[in-house]
Amino acid sequence: MFSGTTMMVPLRPCNGVSQYLSKSPMVHTKRQTTVRNIYMKAQTQAVPSRTQRIMESISVGGEVGGAGGAYSYSALKRLDKIWSSICSAETVQQEPQQVVSDFPGVFSHSALAEKAVHKFDVVVCGGTLGIFIATALSVKGLKVSVVERNLLKGREQEWNISRKELMELVEAGILNENDIEEATAVSFNPNRCGFENKGEIWVEDILNLGVSPVKLIEIVKKRFIALGGVIFEGCSVSGISIYDDAAVLQLAEGNILSSRLIIDAMGNFSPVVKQIRGGRKPDGVCLVVGSCAHGFKDNSTSDVIYSSSSVKKVGNAEVQYFWEAFPAGSGPLDRTTYMFTYVNPQPDSPKLEELLEDYWDLMPKYQGVSIDNLEILRVIYGIFPTYCESLVMLAAYSHLSLSVVLGA
Ligand SMILES: Cc1cc2nc3c(=O)[nH]c(=O)nc-3n(C[C@H](O)[C@H](O)[C@H](O)COP(=O)(O)OP(=O)(O)OC[C@H]3O[C@@H](n4cnc5c(N)ncnc54)[C@H](O)[C@@H]3O)c2cc1C
Repeated sequence: MFSGTTMMVPLRPCNGVSQYLSKSPMVHTKRQTTVRNIYMKAQTQAVPSRTQRIMESISVGGEVGGAGGAYSYSALKRLDKIWSSICSAETVQQEPQQVVSDFPGVFSHSALAEKAVHKFDVVVCGGTLGIFIATALSVKGLKVSVVERNLLKGREQEWNISRKELMELVEAGILNENDIEEATAVSFNPNRCGFENKGEIWVEDILNLGVSPVKLIEIVKKRFIALGGVIFEGCSVSGISIYDDAAVLQLAEGNILSSRLIIDAMGNFSPVVKQIRGGRKPDGVCLVVGSCAHGFKDNSTSDVIYSSSSVKKVGNAEVQYFWEAFPAGSGPLDRTTYMFTYVNPQPDSPKLEELLEDYWDLMPKYQGVSIDNLEILRVIYGIFPTYCESLVMLAAYSHLSLSVVLGA
């Protein structure tokens, strides 16, 4: 049937998806004018990008709330929309919602106190890394709760980390060494740092473990609950009221949690951080795109940081690409590669999808493979806003109560 859609002619296959070229449909009819109109309409419709075709060919189950936990094309478009709005803003993106408010006096005399209240020593907002600090505080004997707006679950894509960093979690009583063994999917050495024409340095034991966030967070979640911790899953932070003797959290779902301390672990897009920063545009942003793919024969070492080219133009912007590459735990031929860059957010800054379009060309050259021989298992992306000014200093200047400890 031919009804206003672009006809596609397959070129060479990539990731099981044919690459398409628009082509005039072979329609023979007396009503040539109508056909021409239909064809012209068809031609004006956008041909999907290589990124879209690759991403839509992968089934993405198990997306979660934390950074790098969404793999679908629609989630990429959503993040690119957020990124575009950051780029288009002058200095202030938009007046942020006032999530934290100060109330003079004691909580027991307030109107909120009459509503049903759960009492804790500490409430941690945001569960991905929040569950770790919540467990450390529970180990110390405090009554702690975690509020997470999604399911509290780690992402499928491994975290690369050094054993030394994990051992700090053992020292804090959050994990034991068996947990580390259980959650570690892969380990590899040596690890390279290299810059074009500047030589290479090979190191050992740096970011040389691939840890399963799904397993690690499940282990810590169980420990937290066993210690008496309470998790409010599928619940969003709506407002935080600071009294002389309590920090009180209201959830969008209606629950009220009173505590002595509220910890913000809601990541880079925390509403508390937005309020403290007055909705200000970030000074710089790290953009990262990548994939986990099957088909790398040379897969025993990693790149902690590698740059094989100097500054290049992407659209109207200039960027320098850096790379990371890690063997993945899902199989001996599976490898994660990340391409990242640092930009000032401006209207002509490249979008994540544009970076991915570059990535499909550059990654095979960087890794010495052909994209035709790779099966893309997952596409990964994220943005990391950065500011020159310290958040804690800003919080102090803005008189926002430091009963809210800042996580980002
Ligand atoms: C592509 C990519 C690759 C990465 N690779 C690595 C790696 O290899 N190794 C590594 O160590 N790190 C890696 N990171 C970074 C790592 O993912 C982050 O450091 C980690 O996820 C940060 O956790 P977080 O809890 O601070 O923030 P987030 O991961 O952003 O989590 C914030 C949590 O808060 C919740 N939340 C947000 N708003 C609310 C609200 N209003 N109410 C309730 N809950 C809320 C979210 O649902 C989420 O669970 C990577 C990140 C990306 C994007």
